[in-house]
Order: sequence, then C-alpha cells, then structure tokens
Amino acid sequence: MNGSADGAVNGTGTSRRRFLKVLGTSGAGAATMAACGPPDFADKLIPHLVEEEGITPGVSETYATVLPDAGPEPVPVHAQVRDGRVLGLSPNSRFGGGTSGLSSLTHSTLQDLYDPDRVSQPLQRNPSTEEGAPPFQFASWEDATAALTNAVRVGGGVLLTGRVTGTTGRFIADWARVMGVEHIAWEPFSNDALATGTADVSGGAGMPRFDLSSADRIACFGADFLGTWLAPTQMSAGFAAARDIEAHHHAKFTFVGPRLSLTGANADEWIEARAGTEGAVALAVAGVVAASRGAELPAGLPGVSPEAAADAAGVPADAIRALGEELAAAENAVAIPPGLESQGADARQAHQAVAALNEVLGAVGRSVLPGDGAPEGTTASFADMQALIGRMRAGQVRTLIVAGCNPAYALPAAAGFAEALANVANTVAITPHLDETASASGWVLPCHHALESWCDAELADGAMALGQPLMHPVFDTRQREDLLLDVANAAGQGGAFGGTDYATVLRSTWTERLGGHAAWLDALRRGGAPAAAWAGDDGAGGGEDDAPAGGAVGDLGGFQLPQAPAGTQLVVYPTAQFYDGRGANRSWMQEQPDAITKAVWNSWVEMHPDMAAELGVERGDLVRVESAQGAIEAPVYVYRGIRPDTVAIPLGQGHTEYGRNARGRGVNPLDLLAANADPGSGALAYAGTAVNVTATGETARLVVTQGSTDDLDREIVHAMNVEDALHEIEAHEIDLVELVEAAWDSDPNSPYRWGMVIDLNSCTGCGACVTSCYSENNIPTVGEEQAALRREMSWMRIHRFEEETEDGGFQTVQQPMLCQHCGDAPCEPVCPVYATYHSPEGLNVQVYNRCVGTRYCANNCPYKVRRFNWFNHDAARGRGEGGAFAWPLNLQLNPDITVREVGVMEKCTMCVHRINKAKIDAKDEGRTVRDGEVTTACQSSCPSNAITFGNLKDPESEVSRKAKSARGYHALGELGVRPAITYLEDVTHRHMAAGGHGEPAAAGEGEEAH
Ligand code: SF4
Repeated sequence: MNGSADGAVNGTGTSRRRFLKVLGTSGAGAATMAACGPPDFADKLIPHLVEEEGITPGVSETYATVLPDAGPEPVPVHAQVRDGRVLGLSPNSRFGGGTSGLSSLTHSTLQDLYDPDRVSQPLQRNPSTEEGAPPFQFASWEDATAALTNAVRVGGGVLLTGRVTGTTGRFIADWARVMGVEHIAWEPFSNDALATGTADVSGGAGMPRFDLSSADRIACFGADFLGTWLAPTQMSAGFAAARDIEAHHHAKFTFVGPRLSLTGANADEWIEARAGTEGAVALAVAGVVAASRGAELPAGLPGVSPEAAADAAGVPADAIRALGEELAAAENAVAIPPGLESQGADARQAHQAVAALNEVLGAVGRSVLPGDGAPEGTTASFADMQALIGRMRAGQVRTLIVAGCNPAYALPAAAGFAEALANVANTVAITPHLDETASASGWVLPCHHALESWCDAELADGAMALGQPLMHPVFDTRQREDLLLDVANAAGQGGAFGGTDYATVLRSTWTERLGGHAAWLDALRRGGAPAAAWAGDDGAGGGEDDAPAGGAVGDLGGFQLPQAPAGTQLVVYPTAQFYDGRGANRSWMQEQPDAITKAVWNSWVEMHPDMAAELGVERGDLVRVESAQGAIEAPVYVYRGIRPDTVAIPLGQGHTEYGRNARGRGVNPLDLLAANADPGSGALAYAGTAVNVTATGETARLVVTQGSTDDLDREIVHAMNVEDALHEIEAHEIDLVELVEAAWDSDPNSPYRWGMVIDLNSCTGCGACVTSCYSENNIPTVGEEQAALRREMSWMRIHRFEEETEDGGFQTVQQPMLCQHCGDAPCEPVCPVYATYHSPEGLNVQVYNRCVGTRYCANNCPYKVRRFNWFNHDAARGRGEGGAFAWPLNLQLNPDITVREVGVMEKCTMCVHRINKAKIDAKDEGRTVRDGEVTTACQSSCPSNAITFGNLKDPESEVSRKAKSARGYHALGELGVRPAITYLEDVTHRHMAAGGHGEPAAAGEGEEAH
C-alpha cells in the first residue's frame, strides 16, 4: 500500500486547461492543493482580486533555505518559488564555503517533495488479519497524536533520528530529556572512524575538513570525495582549483584503492590496493615522507615498510616508495583518507595512518583543518545501533519512535533490526515516506518535507543555515517538531521549550542568539548566520558536538597490518544518485546514468575483464555473489578499473518498500555483510567481506546508456599531458571568435552569438548538470523499459571514455554532451517543415508546435543529442503508475518551459528562456546583456565550474576568453558544422599513447585542429 494509491488523494492527473484555470484565478493555489488535491480544484476557486504578500502571479521569487538531509552534509540553497510552488533549486553560495554548485542528489530532493508515494495522512496498522486486508488504515491526526502521546507515556522509549544540529538538535535533545525518552541520532554513512582516527593524531573535537584548493600534490586513500564522501561539492571546487591548468598549475592526483570510483577515475595514477589496506599503504608512504624530510612519525605509531604494506595491499613496493618521494618533494601535498567503501574492521587505525601522513606532509592547518567541533558526526555508531538492537530484542525498549532515518533498510540484514523491531510494543514512524522502517511500524505519522518546514542545520565551517517553509504542504502532513510539541503539551510540559509551535521556538532562539528581530529577518533573507555571528553555540542538540571517542593526541594503539580475506573480495560503495538509499524513489536518480557504468534503473556487479573471462561472462550475464551471510544475483558490468580479485556492487537499491521507483528494483549488497564493527570507532566494516562469485547461466536486463567507452579514434574527447598543456598555453591562442562569426553562425546585426565552453580538465563527471537540466526543462523520465530501447529523454549526457596511455593503462575522460548549436547545423536543412532553424543569435531552435516528427533531424545530427517523444509522459496518458509527471510531480514543472507531446523532437535550448529574460531586463534598462548575466541551468549546478556560457561576439566575455585557449577543440570538428560549444582538452600527468588523442592543437590549424 502507498499513501497516494489507496489514500484520500488519488493519482489522477490534472489537465493543462484545468491547471491554468487554477493558477490564473487563485493566488492561494497551494493552500487549496494541500487541503483538497486536484479533483476538488474547481470547487475552491478564489479570484485573485487581492494579491497575497510575496506572490506575484507568474513571477518567481527566490528564498534562501537549507536542506538538512540532502546527502552527506546539509545543503544551503536558494529555492525558486512561483505561484505557491517550489520549482527549482540553486546553490546559496553565501554559505557552504562559497561553493557554486549543487549535486544531483540535492536537486532531486524536489522529487522527494512532490513524490506521489508520500504518505498523505496518518496511517495505523490494520488490526484485520484477513487475507488481502491492507496493512494500514487511515487515521485522524487526533488519533495519531494521541497514539504518539500514549507511546511516550508508556516509558522505556527511544527516539531515533538522523543527524540533527543547531536549534533543531537542541530542541530534540531537550524534548527527549523532558519527556524521559532516550534520543539516538544515527546516520548510516557516518564518519566515526574519520573523526576518531584524525583526532588521535591531530587533535580537534569534531570532523576534519579538507581544502584542496592550494594543494600541489594530492593522494587519496580510498574516499570518493568528488561523489559521496564528506563534502563533495566543496571538495570538487577545491580539486578543480588545484588543477586549474590555465592558472599554470595542476596538482598531480594519485588514487589508492581497489576500484576506480568517480573520484578514482579522475586520478593521474592508480595504485590498486586491496580494499581495507589503504591505511597500511598510507602509513608506509608516511614513513617514506618522514625519512625523506628527516621528520618523525607521530609518537606511538609504528612504522610500516613499503614492502610489508605492498604485500598486504597486493601492489608493488616501488609504487609506494615513489608516491612517498613525490609527496615529500611537493610543497603543499595533502592526503585524503579512506571512505566508506574501504572502511574495514580496523578503520580507526587507517584514519590514524592518513592523519599521520598529513602531519609529516605539513598539511594540517593548511589543507587539512582538524575538527573544531563542527558537528558532521553523529552520536551513534554502528556499535551503538547494535547495542540498541540488543535491547530491543531483549524487550527493554517498549517504544521506538523513528523520525528521520530508515534502519530497517540501511543496516546490514545480519544486524537483525527488522526482527528486533517486532519485539517493540509501540512503534511509530514520523516520516514522509512509507519506507522499510515505516512499513514495519504500528503508526506512520507523515511529516513535512524540509522545503515545507522550519529548520536549521550547522555547516562544516560552523555557520548556521536557516530553513523556512516555502510553500503550503502538499499533503496532510505536520512538522516533525510540532508533533513532538503536541505530545509535550498533552503531557503538560509544553512550557519547557519556549513556544507551543516550532516556528516560535526557532524564531525566539535565533532572535536571542543574533541579538534582535532585525538580525533574525536578515538571517532569514540570507539563509543563515556566519560562524562568527553564531559562535558560542554549545551544540546541546543530539550530542552532535560530542568529542569523538578517540583519545588525546598521540594516544595511538599498535598498528596492525590488515589481512585481506582470501579469495574474491567484495566492495560495496555509495553512488552519487542513491547515497544511502534515500534517492532510490526519485525517477531522476534512477534514470541518472551512473558515473562509471552509465547503467540506469538497476544494480550490477562490477568485475575485471580477467575475472569475467575466467567465469565466461560478459555484460548483462547474471552472476550469483555469495557470502557467509547471504547471496544476491545481479547482472555483470565488465570494468577495467577494478582489481581482478575484487567485485563491486553499488549501495542504495534493493528496497522492499519506499515507493514505486524503488521497490523491488536491484539488490541490496548490505545483505552480504556481517554485522562487524571496528572496535576502535564503532563504525560498520563495509570492507573485508569474502565472496564466492558464480555464473548462473542466465542473463538479465542491464540498461547502459553509453554504447562504448572507446571513442573509436573519432577524437570526440582529447586528453593531453600536463607538460604539453603548459607549453601550449604559453605558446599561442586560437581566434575562435573569428571562427564563430562566420556568416551562418549569427545575424551580423545581432550583438549576440551565444556559446559555451566546457573544460574537460575540470569536469569530474558528477552529473549534477544533467539533473539540473531535468529539473529546469521539464524533461520526463521514461523508465527502464523505454531506456532499454534508447528512448531516454535527457538533453545532456556525460560520456566516459577510456583513452589509452603509454604505460598500457587508460585515462578516463568525462565529457558532457549536449546540442552543440552548430553554426552550420546538419539538422536544419533536412527538416521539411522548418521546425528546427537557426536563430539570429546563433542558437539552433526547435519549434515544438511545428514539428511533425519525421526525425530526419535526429538522423542527421552527428552528436545524437536530439530526443524524440515516443509517448506523452504526463499523468493521464503516461505508462505505469501515472507517467513521469504523475500528480503531484507535475507541480514541479517549470511554467517557462513547454511540456512536449508525443511525436515531437526536443533537445537542449541553452536555456533560451533565461536568455530571453535577461534580454528583456536589459532592454528595460536600455543596454545589452552583460557578461555573466545569463547562466544556464547546467552551468549554475556545476561544482567544478567546468561550464562557461556567454556571448562569443563579446571579445571580453569569459566564454570568448576561454574559447581561445590552446586546449580548445570542437567535438567532431572535422565535419565542419561549427559548433558553438568549445571543449577544452583534459589534462593528465600520464602520457597518452601514440596515435591517441593527446596531441596538442597546432598553432594556426584553426578548425582543422578542432
Ligand atoms: S560539467 Fe556536469 S558532470 Fe562535469 S563536473 Fe560539472 S556538473 Fe559535474
């Protein structure tokens, strides 16, 4: 059962006519929607005679807020609100280290807000045991609140939340104390071992931070810091800055680990260490650095020889020694510790080793900022959760309130949470979703989404981000904290919190903290308060500021060389699209091609070509992966970037509940793990599991959206050696501006020729640009079946090519591919009805209502970036459970963009609606559009600033300046179609193979060279 399918709100669609009717006449549309849902719209129309404050029909307003649960870290954002609906998100660069970028996962929280599967009103477990009876029945809020109150009154209660910080954290801690309930804050992917191991060596009471921007040499010992670890958006920005070849520097990057993750794929060098042995390699490298610099390892930490570490890791000792010597020779070298995928039963000592390496490198205080109390950690480790499960099993927990996490899915099955839950008499889930934990609970109380809530969250730099409700709730839900206050009020304890509703509690706390109402309003407008203004917070909430369990500086235990298990090792890893599973019911994330495999809507088992040959399997063949804990079956993806003795399976899929897109899709590799914790930190040992892999003889559907990782010498991507790049940058410029001003490219009388530069050296392949394009341009997802027929609708895709290197290895090059807006576009002359034509400003335009669907244009496009609507994707005529825009997902649709119908071709417009808005604004002021005034959706989401958009006719514009780089080239430039997108070659410290694509462009070669 799900909240919408059987609930008061049915899944029927809203016609365009009806939708416009409502928007045109009701400024309070959202309130009407919240109360009644679409079927009752017409009965509730209110003429828009008196404008509501803050609502101008048809005009977007931008509000600052924060998404505390968006991913590895809270994300401060700006939300675009129009006609009572949140339509889009963009970064709030006032906070979060000034980073301008927003991850795919953060964008997709919009689909969480408008998720058709959200629980629409309180649910009570159905007492009926008759066959076929639904597991839940709807209940009133009065009954639900009474049930929650009674559950708390029983005593012996535990409140289990996710990470809570700031006022929210303090409120929940206070509530638990006043109500006599134990509060446990738990995040599945916590960084307990990082906090403890780093504090052991470098001190600090919280989570360390890493600033890569000034590094000249980077070594990573396993973490996927560009994708899923710690603070990927900020770290991507720092990584790009450290490798800004146009600024004449490019930090060499070595990745140590068993598998090239999104981060590993961006490395210049790969040391293929076994999973769980990265710490030993780091300690050996630290020894080499210390010897080279005449320094000492931190007291108490024993040395490990390169040979011993090499033996444990299964890599050459020379590689370890060479890495140590290169790091020692660098001025600003930094080491990044292991991540989740390499976290074994000795995780704390691995972090101690990397912290020791950073000490001898002198990186601490420069690139590594030891924790100063920043509360990214959580109080409960996996070991703490095991203790809770033990108490639940023993009947010592009489009430369990789960509010903000999903332990029934995110803990290994071997931990036994689901079975222990059955032993708890009163179980209440406060959640927007009917996930695995909620489905096993007695009561489900649906709570607001963050975009409907008051909240705050402490950021890594100590700043406090502030969140506000930006729209009326989509469903009949309540704010989590207000529910808790209702319980306190019912128990006569309401006076203990400074307000009877959470908005008052939050406002009074902030007002007092910042020194007045004006400061509160200013914080609301800005989206928070900087660390200096908020300093002095004792962080009483949820114990999130607790010092890590580690001892004082220098308290280092004896380092034991890790022993890799015999046989095939299992690596499980989080992905940028699903993280700990929270992204799995969002169709944007299901249809977002994985950064490495480009697979969608499924799980897979990555294995080396040698292992695949040994098993006699190829991509799509079904294999059985068996551990001592269980077995799963999934299709194979053959990948050169993994050790031959290792298989890797992504986390986040394999849900048994949670919603239509997540349920029953893929596998959950947590089923294969033992419930082992690192004794030093309490962290779950994700690494160190031995598995047996066998071919089943069957095949399964694995939809991979990229045909080949080989560009077949078509020079679609280019990579050049760093020395050549530096030489070429010094040597010459290419006058691309002159090139694009050729007659076909734009009207000579137009001041504009819009164009783009994409720097392949900066692009990491994270895919944030792709999701932002879905969000901005109403791009439908099509589902697995249609994706298998190559009918996905994405206007952008990220190529991942493997370019051969001189040493027999390969260099991964990531390339965003979208409509190139060619000056001499092959699609234009073949359209019989002029549906696609060239605009006076150089854009390749697609007129939807003229298109008759011959698809000649797609056939003639050399870049294959045009998408054809084989179906209507709206709710009424969509397939499956209501189509891509099933209500209320349709409320997220951008009104500036047409929703395309069946039989129509579509593709990237370079956000022409944004261009037009900027032109209208400029015209009002009697000027032309300024450089930087228009940013495309993809550009504004890229954390690495890989995308630059602007006017190529303005010689001073950033896009003109970058397009003239010696690294500039046009994809398939030999066709002479004069693309408006200039790619800048990737730069690597590797030497590309002869005949590869590493040759720098020769001076004066002009278009030939591109
Ligand atoms: S261009 Fe796209 S894929 Fe590349 S780093 Fe930027 S957002 Fe990520």
